[in-house]
Amino acid sequence: MNKPLVLIVEDDTAVQNLISTTLETHDYRFCTAPNGEAAVLEAVSHNPEVVLLDLGLPDIDGVEIIRKIRSWSQVPIIVISARSEDSDKIEALDAGADDYLTKPFSVEELLARLRVTFRRLNYSASTTGEAAVFTNGELKIDYAAGCVFMDNEELHLTPIEYKLICLLSKNVGKVLTHTYITHEIWGSAWDNDVASLRVFMATLRKKLEKESGSPKYIQMHVGVGYRMLRV
Ligand code: CA
Repeated sequence: MNKPLVLIVEDDTAVQNLISTTLETHDYRFCTAPNGEAAVLEAVSHNPEVVLLDLGLPDIDGVEIIRKIRSWSQVPIIVISARSEDSDKIEALDAGADDYLTKPFSVEELLARLRVTFRRLNYSASTTGEAAVFTNGELKIDYAAGCVFMDNEELHLTPIEYKLICLLSKNVGKVLTHTYITHEIWGSAWDNDVASLRVFMATLRKKLEKESGSPKYIQMHVGVGYRMLRV
């Protein structure tokens, strides 16, 4: 199999070097762009499998770059942000980014995020269109029948919990923001009712996770949102 190509968009040379060295030693190929204009150009001409995007670039705002890339491509975008404010990450995720890393990050963290992304890519490639049954580890969702099974036992979910698990499963591997989820489940009137969402998520996760201390399926991103992990 060909080594996957990663586009690194980063104006800080030290960080860019750290990332490229890491990728090189872990069997990835890479290309680089030091600013937003070059990033869009590289994305068009090299068609990378993943984009690592620094949000703070000298020319174009990172969120604007996500919107540009999303206008023609569904390539996974992992945002790298020095700004620790959640609002930047959330804006980037809502613009179409898949995941985020906050600076300073460790090499292990970077590699873990890439693994999650590639697992998701392989999964999407293996399922054509809308599969009728979703399986992830011990979890099985029969969309047509509206049933959810864990370990071959049916879970009794409320309608809202069922909608939530469907939404998460259809976006497996991707971090979904509170705004996105509440909008999809309840519509705009409920936009960002994080308190209600948290209650429903807590009951869903309780039914789903065998060990509440180390959740296997649904990961909570404090202040940001939730993600279903590919098990
Ligand atoms: Ca920067």
